[in-house]
Amino acid sequence: MEKKLSKINEEVFLSIIIPVFNENETIKTCYHEINKKLEIYKSVLEIIFIDDGSSDNSVQILKELSQEDNRIKCIFLSRNFGKEAAMSAGINHTNGKYIVQIDCDLQDPPEIIPSMIETLEKNNCDVVYGIRTERAGESFVKRSTSYLFYKLIDKMSHIEIPRNTGDFRVMNKQVILALRELPETQRFMKGLFSWVGFKQIGFYYKRNKRIAGKTKFNYYKLWNFALEGITSFTNIPLKVATYIGFSISFIAFLISIFYLAKYFIIGDKIQGFLTLIVSILFMGGIQLMFLGILGEYLGRTYLETKRRPLYVIKEKINL
Ligand code: UDP
Ligand code: MG
Repeated sequence: MEKKLSKINEEVFLSIIIPVFNENETIKTCYHEINKKLEIYKSVLEIIFIDDGSSDNSVQILKELSQEDNRIKCIFLSRNFGKEAAMSAGINHTNGKYIVQIDCDLQDPPEIIPSMIETLEKNNCDVVYGIRTERAGESFVKRSTSYLFYKLIDKMSHIEIPRNTGDFRVMNKQVILALRELPETQRFMKGLFSWVGFKQIGFYYKRNKRIAGKTKFNYYKLWNFALEGITSFTNIPLKVATYIGFSISFIAFLISIFYLAKYFIIGDKIQGFLTLIVSILFMGGIQLMFLGILGEYLGRTYLETKRRPLYVIKEKINL
């Protein structure tokens, strides 16, 4: 893998990191919009596209663009490693004083980047993250499951992940250097952004619809993303097993005393096929569930111990 701490070059003022996965419909518009809206940074800008193993002609488009404009830098990963890995690849290759992360589908408006940088400089802080006031084009189910997930992770972990934020943020290079030092391969970037600390401020904006194409995240991917977030930042699910185990044993103990007393004092015959079957199934379910939770942690520990790199680079252009 690349040496993580590449030399930071002061001449680049702003580095823009854009992960790309099958975005042939959006890349060009994204590039032109950024050019247009960030005209003021024209000569001090670098745009780093990270192709996350696209199977459409995104690669071709990126190669053409990077030939026309050498401020465009491309990293082609050898397969689809996921957005979190693609973003890490970008983070490891930036040279700018400020770094912005933005999606290729222009859901996050590039025109507000100058105001975000201004906010960052005015408040003398290190990160300005976007907070979505509106989320156009996202279904009710996606919004409500996402709300529940962040509420849950907020309650369970010590780190604070601001509500309604995505990956759209401006950071200074100190934050980037801290992120590069993080060794884990199981990456939940939103959590890591909070974990590194520094002075962070929110910036409200309206999130648009995708300009073209479809979201690359189905519910199964989102579910795994949620598991990643929880297992990366809290051990509480493991502890819950202990407490539930204790509580159920205690309740079972009380119930057995009750039935024994009934048997010896009233002489009641002990019956209850239904109670038996229900309690066996209930306990079986709980045990399997916690075995599963244990497995989630164990599996991640296993992956982490292999120390495989986060991503594999096939080719780089202008870097
Ligand atoms: N993306 C990626 N790898 C993936 C999935 C997505 O690099 O495996 C990129 C995608 O090309 C886009 C960004 O991540 O630039 C956000 O993806 P998308 O718009 O599909 O997510 P949503 O906005 O629906 O959460
Ligand atoms: Mg999107």
